[in-house]
Amino acid sequence: MDLPKFPVEGGCQCGAARYRLKASPLSVYNCHCKDCQRFSGAAWSMSMIVKDSDFELLSGEIAQYRKTADSGNAIVMNFCARCHGWLWNDPPAPGIKVVRAGTLDDLDWAAPVGNIWTDSKAVWVQIDPAQVNFPKGATDRTPLFDAWTRSTHKDS
Ligand SMILES: [Zn+2]
Ligand SMILES: [Zn+2]
Repeated sequence: MDLPKFPVEGGCQCGAARYRLKASPLSVYNCHCKDCQRFSGAAWSMSMIVKDSDFELLSGEIAQYRKTADSGNAIVMNFCARCHGWLWNDPPAPGIKVVRAGTLDDLDWAAPVGNIWTDSKAVWVQIDPAQVNFPKGATDRTPLFDAWTRSTHKDS
């Protein structure tokens, strides 16, 4: 997949909360944990890992919700305070945000390279064995970062 010209933007459904992504994310993958299923209302949610320094909130008021993830870690979830659209999580790992990739204005370039929490996926969801997959959470995200780098920097 070819990367777009950065910066790119995204935001919530009502348009109040807008953000800018200044550089490529470190990875995009699907999370099949029960929390993501509940919050997204879908079988999985698309997680896009970005460096804090590459993410800029341009407008909007943010409402926060603190929860304990399946992994046992405390996570801060960030929503548009007006339409309550789910925008990003602040994970316990410092320096990164997990942005919901579906909030990008254009997500054609953001094809996921792997899956986490496949142990709790719906039985009818097919996982591509050629991707980087984890039965539970990825304590070390390096394989997901490497897979993203491979998919976006085609050998030439
Ligand atoms: Zn909104
Ligand atoms: Zn999840």
